[in-house]
Amino acid sequence: MKLLFLASEVVPYSKTGGLADVAGALPRALADLGHEVRVVTPLYRSISRANLSPDGAPLTLTFPFGALQVDYRSTALERGHAVVFVDVPALFDRPALYGHDDDARRFTVFTMAALSWAQRAGFSPDVVWGNDWQTGLMPLAVQTGYAHTPLGRAKTLFTIHNLAYQGNFPRTELEALGIPWSYFGLDGVEFWGNLGFMKAGLVRADQVTTVSPSYAKEIQTTEGGFGLDGVLRNVKRGVVGILNGIDGHEWNTATDVLLPQRYSAADRSGRALNRRSLLDAFRITPPTTAPLFGVVGRMVDQKGADLLQAVLPKFLEQGARAVVLGNGDPAVENAWRALQLRFPERLGLKVGFDNSLAHLIEAGSDFFVMPSRFEPCGLNQLYSLAYGAVPIVRAVGGLKDTVVDFSEREGTGVVFGPATADALFAAMVRAVELFRNQPAYEAVQKRGMKADFSWASSAR
Ligand code: ADP
Repeated sequence: MKLLFLASEVVPYSKTGGLADVAGALPRALADLGHEVRVVTPLYRSISRANLSPDGAPLTLTFPFGALQVDYRSTALERGHAVVFVDVPALFDRPALYGHDDDARRFTVFTMAALSWAQRAGFSPDVVWGNDWQTGLMPLAVQTGYAHTPLGRAKTLFTIHNLAYQGNFPRTELEALGIPWSYFGLDGVEFWGNLGFMKAGLVRADQVTTVSPSYAKEIQTTEGGFGLDGVLRNVKRGVVGILNGIDGHEWNTATDVLLPQRYSAADRSGRALNRRSLLDAFRITPPTTAPLFGVVGRMVDQKGADLLQAVLPKFLEQGARAVVLGNGDPAVENAWRALQLRFPERLGLKVGFDNSLAHLIEAGSDFFVMPSRFEPCGLNQLYSLAYGAVPIVRAVGGLKDTVVDFSEREGTGVVFGPATADALFAAMVRAVELFRNQPAYEAVQKRGMKADFSWASSAR
């Protein structure tokens, strides 16, 4: 099959979260299965043009809000896979990927530019694949704007990576974007009187998928649906949940060049040295017998940092250590800063984005804490399993589908139910007790490291 894959962030070019990891790895895994895949993404400021070749002459796209010249650049085609960049400096040459007043226009231009590229390049896809709200107008555009062209015969697939971000904009944008009012309805772009990009993608796509079976169910309930549960219960062919995988090139303990020491499930001796480097990196003193907890992730309400901040002092007082990496909501960042001042030798904090440090935290922590309120799939717990940082997770979304609570003979992590500080506290107490019994801890760790979450099976 020929697949045209639209994503607003793609590793290694741009990243704010898990979507980028998926867009970096899944298309390659599909190409490895014999498909022809073109990934299209915006050329942001952070992306160097150096290794990208111009891809055809510029095109001019005209919208009611103005005409824009679009340049295209692309990577070399390698075994059925290439990345095509949409270059519109006025829209994408900015410090942040999202959060601009003109995001509706930026990502509409991106979506239309991606489709125009395919048409111009003569790449006639069997499937056009949109990801998250940024590409929500794609199905409608394919079905209406290209009706009598090869592109219009493509099936549309739309994947939800995080339903919390919906791309809802004032209805006044409709005319600026050139969307006829006839599409402002239940089976179109209208969502509670506004223009809803995510909603438009859901109702118009031939197939909707999301990134774990549990999340597929949760988002069809009032509690987990972010107002879109009704829409989701009614989509054609239902919502299919397929777990994300691990990019084995980037996240592999045996080959990871970002680590001071490489190791494997069979020989984990290198882990102790990584742990030492990790403590040094954060300038915290080694614990005697208590564990080192690691945290990596966006600092937003979703990730449940407030739960961890409520209980962590008790563990630090008793000798545990913790290292925290992330950025996001200033209130969450500041709460971590305040806690760090209280425990300068026991709590390490880095507010920022640091991929090498994320790898080191996975390779050196004894436990990885992820008390998410909701979690579409979650990648960090998968990296934790693979890297031997035994995950402590809430039984929700993809966390529930990937981590098995430990018992005497089985399990790969510590799993708890309610999104409360008490439940997290109890889970961490269990973790500390497990850690006291090193052979038992190591058995859990080893089982996690051997679990298979490769992309090949998910891609299939
Ligand atoms: P989400 O997509 O909700 O952010 P995931 O767990 O699915 O959560 O994916 C997050 C990805 O982003 C992981 O690869 C994680 O390592 C990475 N990440 C998040 N925050 C940071 C950070 N501050 N520094 C380095 N990597 C980060």
